[in-house]
Amino acid sequence: MKKVVFFVLSVFISLFAATYRWGDSAHSMGLIKAEGGKALHPAFLESGWGGYTLISTATVIPPYSGDVRIVLEGQPQLSYSLYASHPVIDLGLRRLPTFKDDVFYGLMPGDRIALWAVIKPPTVDPVCKMPHQENFIRHTHNGKDYFFCSEGCLSEFQNSPGKYKDDRYVEGKYKLVFYDTKTDKSVLSVPVIFAAKGEASHAGQHQH
Ligand SMILES: [Zn+2]
Repeated sequence: MKKVVFFVLSVFISLFAATYRWGDSAHSMGLIKAEGGKALHPAFLESGWGGYTLISTATVIPPYSGDVRIVLEGQPQLSYSLYASHPVIDLGLRRLPTFKDDVFYGLMPGDRIALWAVIKPPTVDPVCKMPHQENFIRHTHNGKDYFFCSEGCLSEFQNSPGKYKDDRYVEGKYKLVFYDTKTDKSVLSVPVIFAAKGEASHAGQHQH
């Protein structure tokens, strides 16, 4: 049995490693409130990674109770999957609310939730980072397909392919929004900021 688990795990890890450069991750904490709750700080993620994990923990502030749908908003749209889990560090967890199809059901005052958002950046032209569109030019390099907005970007890539390996990229401001399913009002909004390495830590310092 142990062997099987180990095998499955190692297959998963090698698949993951093949698909992504190891991703960046961030944690945010927030308060879920009827009148619109806030994150204690924005989540900063470094642009240029092939995948991201955002761990969001939140406490339900009385008197709020209800069902909450979670959406990652921003342009261009990112593909992502949401998972609920027991918080890694949680001294006050009383129960784990049901989570299904991006909705927490029956949140009660005092509940604490932990949510994992696994985010995949969009495919881009590796030279100018423009998000992929239907009319892009396909070019195969070392058995991998890349897409370019113009002949100019394609020839730039062909001149120095080593310089432009990353064809998944995201930059800018997104929001992880928790909507009450009855009123459609936001009960928590977590700013999620993708920025280049220097900019992310710079922006982070301004928050303090
Ligand atoms: Zn381009």
